[in-house]
This record gives sequence, C-alpha cells and structure tokens, in this order.
Amino acid sequence: MRILFLGAPGAGKGTQCKRLAAKLNLPHLSSGDLLREAVKQGTPAGVAAKGFMDKGQLVTDAILIDMFRERLSGPSCANGFILDGFPRNIAQAKALDSLLEELNAQLNCVINLEVDDSLLSDRITGRRTCGNKACAQVFHIKFAPPKKEGICDDCGAELTQRSDDKEDLVAARLKTYREQTQPLIEYYGGKGSLQTVSGEGEPDQIFEAIMTTLNTNCLIKK
Ligand code: AMP
Repeated sequence: MRILFLGAPGAGKGTQCKRLAAKLNLPHLSSGDLLREAVKQGTPAGVAAKGFMDKGQLVTDAILIDMFRERLSGPSCANGFILDGFPRNIAQAKALDSLLEELNAQLNCVINLEVDDSLLSDRITGRRTCGNKACAQVFHIKFAPPKKEGICDDCGAELTQRSDDKEDLVAARLKTYREQTQPLIEYYGGKGSLQTVSGEGEPDQIFEAIMTTLNTNCLIKK
C-alpha cells in the first residue's frame, strides 16, 4: 500500500500518519522529520536546508528528491509507505511520478486532510512534541494537553516546541503552503487518486474516517 498525505501545516498529518503506519505496519516518511534530523546531524543536506526552514520556506527540490529517491528505493519501502510532507510542490510531484515509474509502482491513495484556515494557526503554535526521539509523541497545550505541563505522558521526557511552530513563522509557512503545495490537490484530483477527509474533530474520529476511506476507496489489503 502506497499512501500520500496532503494537508496544510497543522492539519494533523503527522499524528494521523504515525497511527496509520503503526496500524498498517508501513514506514512513515515525514519530510519535515527527515530534514530536522539532517539539520541536527549537520549533514550537507541539513546545513543547506536549515536557512529555508528557519524562514518557513521550501527547501531546494533536489535535496528532497534525493532524500526520497534513496528511501523509496530501499528495502524498507518494498511493501509500501506513507508519505507525509513530500511532495510539496508540482516539481516534486512530477519527480515522484518518475521515481514511482522507475520502481514500477503507483500510489494507491492520496488523502487530503482538510482543516479550516481559522483553526490552523492555533493548532500549530500550541503543538508540543516529546523530546525523546524514540517516543516523539505530539501534544497540544489546548486541544490535547499532557497530564503534567511540559512533560510527556508516555515516557516522562520534556516536551519541546519546534522552532518553526512559533507565531512569527506561522504566517510564512501557511503562505508557502497556499502558493506552492495547495495546487497539488488539483494535480492529484486530476489523476483520480484523491480522497478528501476532514481533519477537524477528535483524532480518533479522524483516524476512523481515514480507515473508512482507505477501505472503501483504496481497496486496502491489510
Ligand atoms: P513540516 O514538518 O512538514 O511542517 O516541515 C518543516 C519544514 O521543512 C517546512 O517548513 C520546509 O521548510 C521544510 N520541508 C518539509 N518538507 C519539504 C518539502 N517536501 N520540500 C521542501 N521543503 C520541505
């Protein structure tokens, strides 16, 4: 099963993709997580990406395309994958098309997680993530608060806020999304593989709606 998630920053892609990956036993490839790890490790890709990420802009296409070419061609993705955050513009979507053709594979489903604009900013600025990489549980100070402020319910590590989740960068990230990523809805709509699921409400309900969509429209096998 090869699934791609679209949606604005704050739509809840990361949360839902993580759950889906566990349920379907598929790798969850989050471009943002991969880039943040590369920045942390100080790899050449990370060094090149940091300046763009700090401004809420898209990182150069070639960096993402190389990163995903390597992963999608590897053995861990042989049975499928869940893509989260890549592609993020038309050039990347076309590169993904070529890559899938080379691999003789195709996407089974593209899910657009739709959330009203008015909710996105609050969702982003209130997001807190467990600093323990092995856990990486996501909370929200208003909508999904931890039992003890600033501490992960699951493993007890401290919660952190992503540097680009701070208020001053949110508008830039949403503008980048509207200008460059939103056109992908039409791109995949034209290919007939797009399914829209509401990303508003409780995470459990949203997950159920995603599963129903996959079962009904994408002939999910496991
Ligand atoms: P995310 O965690 O998906 O919100 O991504 C965080 C940041 O990483 C974005 O604001 C971009 O700067 C960068 N980024 C993530 N995915 C991509 C992509 N596919 N193309 C370019 N830049 C990306």
